[in-house]
Amino acid sequence: HLSLTLLIKEMVTETELNFVLIPLLAASHIIPMVDMAKLLAGRGVTVTLVMTPLNAIRFTAVIDRVIGSGLLIRVLELQFPAKEVGLPEGCESADLLPALAFRRNFFAAIDMLQDQAEKLLEQMKPKPSCIICDTHIAWTAETADKFQIPRIIFDGMSCFTQLCMHNLYVMKDKNEIPESGPFVIPDLPDRIEVSKGQLPGAFNPGKHCIQDIRDKIRAAETRAYGVVINTFEELEERYVDEFRKLRNGRVWCIGPLSLCNNDNLDKAQRGNKTSVDKEDSLNKWLDSWQPESVVYACLGSLGRITIVQFVELALGLEESGCPFILVIKTGEGQAPIEDWILKNRFEKRTKERGLLIRGWAPQVLILSHPAIGGFLTHCGWNSTLEGITANVPMITWPLFSEQFLNERFLVHVLKTGVSVGCQGVMHLGEEEKPEVQVNKEEVTKAIKKVMNKEKEGNDRRKRAKEVGQIAKKAIENDGSSHLSLILLIKEIQEFQLNKS
Ligand code: UDP
Repeated sequence: HLSLTLLIKEMVTETELNFVLIPLLAASHIIPMVDMAKLLAGRGVTVTLVMTPLNAIRFTAVIDRVIGSGLLIRVLELQFPAKEVGLPEGCESADLLPALAFRRNFFAAIDMLQDQAEKLLEQMKPKPSCIICDTHIAWTAETADKFQIPRIIFDGMSCFTQLCMHNLYVMKDKNEIPESGPFVIPDLPDRIEVSKGQLPGAFNPGKHCIQDIRDKIRAAETRAYGVVINTFEELEERYVDEFRKLRNGRVWCIGPLSLCNNDNLDKAQRGNKTSVDKEDSLNKWLDSWQPESVVYACLGSLGRITIVQFVELALGLEESGCPFILVIKTGEGQAPIEDWILKNRFEKRTKERGLLIRGWAPQVLILSHPAIGGFLTHCGWNSTLEGITANVPMITWPLFSEQFLNERFLVHVLKTGVSVGCQGVMHLGEEEKPEVQVNKEEVTKAIKKVMNKEKEGNDRRKRAKEVGQIAKKAIENDGSSHLSLILLIKEIQEFQLNKS
């Protein structure tokens, strides 16, 4: 192992490699790509991050610090054609869309970026060696062909979920997904039961389905040279092995990516300016609580819950009796939530134990505080892995996309999560459906189960700590993810050598 690593290191630093990273324009997709950029640049590779101006601003502080430390990262800015596709000026990111119904306009704008990007790549020095792009940017397949470079996709999912999705596609092609009721996803190392209403849009389309866009993305996905995954081998070994077989061995597990943020400033500024003006006051608040006593509740950057669901969440937290932090997303949907908070004096009433953060919370910073004892999450993969990495057991409330699969992973494979019991994806325009409702009693029950200091809670906490420790080892020198990163660089270097 060691001699292989040393040999590769020697070879790699000899050539000039330029990795072009093209994230989907959404905070939760750019965040892991920026982390990936730091890791690659840390290995001596030049990294070019392709973004649009308003997205770049969110990351300026972090990227400037990396550049200041002598690493070769640069940002290429493309002009986002918001107006041309009927989006409000300045709406350059999926998490800023006025409503989910605008997804189609957003993808139209993404498609229009191809020409600009290719012109910039043509002038680039050193020449692009490969593209690592978000799966959702289908045109990068053509671009990689034009430049004759490998296209490696990143879609922010685990190998577990990738494998579930693959097997679900096989079922779908044979028309075997039952319309209702639970069924077992076939050919997986564990018994994973789901129902159609809990599946991602490709298998469970809502009224505003974007199937044509999805088909295009999937076609481009199958042509990709390889896949990078934000995970670590030890977390899901059997799933990594199976997924690797499906992708001709070209799967690189290089996570947890969030762990490349070592100092508090990097953690606090990850993904956006934090909404907590005085990071100090947040720290003081957290310091005032016993270790492992606080529940941190945040449902990600893209999801929107209805006012009815927010009320159940807020009351469930209150009735759990635990100190809590509750993140409230700004933008559409916030006004009725603020109204309810005011009318019911929720913030005043819970002031002794509760902290409301409006807007962007410094999630990784909060999770790393010893006072955090549980994470109520919507099970986006970034958040899921950040919770795993922070050693905390989780309370799971999936909302949409592949989040129900991530929930299954936490609850049934890793056994560090407890579900609030949500039964279905909340589709746009179908928010009132009974299966997507969760009541406060269920929220309280799941929180108490996770936070209790009896055997069941203690065992879960112990498992969470063990897996968190393994996560940290994976990125250390000669850890599995560290080695995988080196092998990825070596792969691209060999491709370039063979080409020339
Ligand atoms: N995040 C954050 N503060 C917030 C909301 C989200 O730092 O207030 C970060 C979080 O740490 C994670 C990402 O945004 O890295 C959310 O990604 P995830 O895959 O969990 O969910 P999504 O937002 O895509 O639904």
